[in-house]
Amino acid sequence: RYMSSTEIRETWLKFFESKKHLIEPSASLIPVNDPTLLWINAGVAPLKKYFDGSETPKSRRITNVQKSLRTNDIDNVGRTARHHTFFEMMGNFSIGDYFKPEAIEFGYELLTSEKYFGMPVEKLYITYYPDDQVAKEKWISLGIPADHMIPQPGNFWEIGAGPSGPCTEIFFDRGEKYDKRGKELIEEDIENDRFIEIWNIVFSQYNANPDVPRSEYKELPNKNIDTGAGLERFACVLQGTETNFETDLHYPVILKTQELSGVTYTGQMAFKVISDHIKTLTFAISDGATLSNEGRGYVLRRILRRAIKYGRTIKFNEPFLYKLVDTVVEMMESFYPALRQTKEIVKKIILKEEEKFFATINDGEKHLLSSIKDGSLSGLEAFKLYDTYGFPIELTLEYAAENNITVDVEGFKTALLEQKNRSREARSVKGSMKSQDETYLNFTEPSKFVGYDQLQVE
Ligand code: ATP
Ligand code: MG
Ligand code: MG
Ligand code: MG
Repeated sequence: RYMSSTEIRETWLKFFESKKHLIEPSASLIPVNDPTLLWINAGVAPLKKYFDGSETPKSRRITNVQKSLRTNDIDNVGRTARHHTFFEMMGNFSIGDYFKPEAIEFGYELLTSEKYFGMPVEKLYITYYPDDQVAKEKWISLGIPADHMIPQPGNFWEIGAGPSGPCTEIFFDRGEKYDKRGKELIEEDIENDRFIEIWNIVFSQYNANPDVPRSEYKELPNKNIDTGAGLERFACVLQGTETNFETDLHYPVILKTQELSGVTYTGQMAFKVISDHIKTLTFAISDGATLSNEGRGYVLRRILRRAIKYGRTIKFNEPFLYKLVDTVVEMMESFYPALRQTKEIVKKIILKEEEKFFATINDGEKHLLSSIKDGSLSGLEAFKLYDTYGFPIELTLEYAAENNITVDVEGFKTALLEQKNRSREARSVKGSMKSQDETYLNFTEPSKFVGYDQLQVE
């Protein structure tokens, strides 16, 4: 049955409200008082203050729909049907209140009841931690067929000492049409868009102690529930689309991109990357982030440039991203009314940055032309283009391929490595950011070459 994204959010929040949860509005993408995190990356992130006891919540049962940003998934955007850098996570939380049986009952009722999402039971597959027979039996007692219960040794949440516990992940079977691997299951198979993870339920029940085996962890006096479900994946399943990008949470942007570019959308990755990245930019800037050369600002700058690189593959030769902001706002403002107030400034910031980058590209192209000797470009010249003129290596390689020019890629890599070693010595990484942010900030060059492969595929 078709459900719009607005109906999905409402159904979620109303269901948990009827189960005595307090609705907590979405927090900003920029963490407050949390130096360990660059971006809010899950529904639980802004609620940590309640779980660690530093603040007392108004209610021990909370539900939310939280804007989330994950840069660690950036290379999957558009490759899989289901990954974004910006997405919304729906959640329910018990802060020392109900525990496993109730959490699973809520999950089963919300997903399968005709009153709510009405998903057919036979399409659901559930992973569980092998030692967690309680969770397994609970799901089966409610009606999940035993052969849809998949043991998964990785289903254990633990970050050093402190609260930890098993989790159960709910997958939706979208059918053989999406199976790239034959009938095989399931988890961590990034290429497979047949079984998609729609909801993760974490049972925080032990006090982790790195010095003893897991089976000897002590039970926590106050057990917690923390869950997260991807709104875009729910929309994909409930709207029956090929990927998340044809749902009402992306398609309007894709149609607008089609109109602006004059290129017809047939599932190309470029459209998906652009739609994803402009949502990230719009929300992050609206929440007060800026573009700069460090921290969050640097992440956004990379995201904007990446969107432009993909834009060039569908014939954009001048600023275009800012023209998509209106569409993003129209699509999202009913749930995020603040977007309306910030719209003009968001557009201005994006346009300014786009103008700068397109100018860099044009300058770089001129230097590229004058650096070519006898049909080839040395590694050092390629590096100079990248380093001095800010001209992305992908564009150098793209141009070279189109014009039968050889590039000394190995020489480029060597020059880059040398520079990286120099700068690693010069400065140590500040603060302790989540590893996903670190990998993105420390942008290694291999991922640039991945980018190049992607450009080639288009
Ligand atoms: P996956 O294995 O698909 O990468 P995950 O296990 O990393 O997902 P969780 O951290 O468990 O994701 O987040 C909870 C839920 O949020 C997931 O079950 C999924 O529905 C959704 N989700 C997670 N990452 C993304 C993403 N990059 N884009 C869209 N939805 C996501
Ligand atoms: Mg993931
Ligand atoms: Mg997962
Ligand atoms: Mg998960």
